[in-house]
Amino acid sequence: MTMQQKTTDAPNPAHRLKTGAEFKATLDDGRQLWLGGRKLDKVTDEPALAAGVELIASMFDDQFKPEFAEATTYVEPTTGELASRAWQVPRSSEELTDRRKMIEYTSLKTAGTFGRPPDLAPAIVAGLMAHVDVFKEKKSMIEGCSPDFGENIEAYMAFGRANNLTASESLAGPQTDRSNPKAAEMAFLRVKKATKDGVYVSGAKTVGSIAAQANDIFFTNLGGLTTTPPEACVWGAVPINTDGIKMISREMVSQPGASKFDHPVSSLGEEADQFIVFDDVFVPKDKIFNLGDPTGMSWYGPVCVFAHWHVLTRLAVKAELFVGAGQLVLDVLGTGKIPAVQLMLGELIEYAQTLRAFIYAAEHKASMTASGVMTPDVSMLTAGRLYSIENYPRIIHILQEICGQGLVMRFGKDAFENPEIGHYLNELLPGHGVTAMQKELLMNFIWDMTSGALAGRVALFENVNASPAPRLRARLFEEVNREAFVDQVKTIAGMDW
Ligand SMILES: Cc1cc2nc3c(=O)[nH]c(=O)nc-3n(C[C@H](O)[C@H](O)[C@H](O)COP(=O)(O)OP(=O)(O)OC[C@H]3O[C@@H](n4cnc5c(N)ncnc54)[C@H](O)[C@@H]3O)c2cc1C
Repeated sequence: MTMQQKTTDAPNPAHRLKTGAEFKATLDDGRQLWLGGRKLDKVTDEPALAAGVELIASMFDDQFKPEFAEATTYVEPTTGELASRAWQVPRSSEELTDRRKMIEYTSLKTAGTFGRPPDLAPAIVAGLMAHVDVFKEKKSMIEGCSPDFGENIEAYMAFGRANNLTASESLAGPQTDRSNPKAAEMAFLRVKKATKDGVYVSGAKTVGSIAAQANDIFFTNLGGLTTTPPEACVWGAVPINTDGIKMISREMVSQPGASKFDHPVSSLGEEADQFIVFDDVFVPKDKIFNLGDPTGMSWYGPVCVFAHWHVLTRLAVKAELFVGAGQLVLDVLGTGKIPAVQLMLGELIEYAQTLRAFIYAAEHKASMTASGVMTPDVSMLTAGRLYSIENYPRIIHILQEICGQGLVMRFGKDAFENPEIGHYLNELLPGHGVTAMQKELLMNFIWDMTSGALAGRVALFENVNASPAPRLRARLFEEVNREAFVDQVKTIAGMDW
């Protein structure tokens, strides 16, 4: 149902935005979820998942606040309605830059710890829209079911936008014996039965970050692209509570319920990664975007370009948080005049500025696809993503290094407020121009971002979530045209071959 914007008295466009409460209500839908062998009745029965849901819900509420309206919403030209920017398809350079505001917003909201915030999966749908003309030409190669892929992609984009939908995307397959092609094949999600109304699929998807906290799952198979059997060549989407979907959650690593002082970031909960079993799951015909066509699978790179732009932008925002935190460390420890310390902060700044430069370059070199979508330059993104993950461990180490003992010797709010010992901590540990507690709050923030269990999961996530470094190097080799560079060498050296 179309609702009226509630925030101001001025006449506003009709909108399709959900409040946080409305979003939370959608999750109480009978989804099948296990954690540590325990079946949860609701996703919010687990504190770490519930805290993560609250954080996501606050993003829905922010859509109605004037200070976040520009970053989180836009007027969709095809309907004239106000919608979430998550579902915006950039049709010009300006719209591409505007869409980035949403990525910066969700990245700041989660301090970069959610790699799959609500605007990530829609970025993959935007990638399909960017090449919808290609998918319009494709036909089902599975007998018995003949979806119209192009129509379905456009309809799913409109459906996601109209419902302010949150989706999880799961493309990678389960980790099996990689030396055995048959093992990888066995793990693929596969069509088991096709009917005129849709297909039944079985298998598993991993790792589906945020799946337990989202409405839909958007899936395909990655890996073994040249050998993927037709029944595993499937792109589709279904609600996460569909019969036959079972989610098995990994161990929780955040600290919900901890004091905001002790754990400013990990108290916010987490996006939990799920192993998602499909046991004879019905995928309706109108939610299928490829069926049986191996050439459709090779569109992974172009289709994921907006998601990869999202990943790099989030890392740039996080790098800027590292610079801000690093500057504060120099301020409160009074180490800012030591040349060696300045150089360490310089490295953090170099990292942050370099990531921004890659994003701006990818946007500057953006091009319009045949389907009329303004798409960031993939080679700049891949090079930037490679640089970002190769240097991430060193950047974390530098931030830890400039903190010295303060990063380890943290005592918590209760210790500071304890009448017997608190005064020792308060008197003996002040910083430069700050109290001991103010100094510790900064160290607690940096601990959560670099050193605690949540930071450990995030660091592992950064390294592989959108392909590990060796695969990114292989993509550069495959995708970056070197002809002009070779010609330049030949011209300068006088090589006439
Ligand atoms: C916390 C977390 C969250 C994630 N979230 C998502 C998500 O939301 N959606 C999603 O689709 N995926 C997600 N991923 C999965 C991610 O896409 C995969 O981890 C990634 O593609 C690497 O595949 P793999 O882990 O199966 O590595 P494996 O294939 O098991 O390989 C292990 C390692 O061997 C090396 N290697 C293997 N094959 C090659 C090769 N051909 N070339 C070079 N090196 C190679 C790499 O170093 C690789 O890391 C997530 C992963 C993690 C850890």
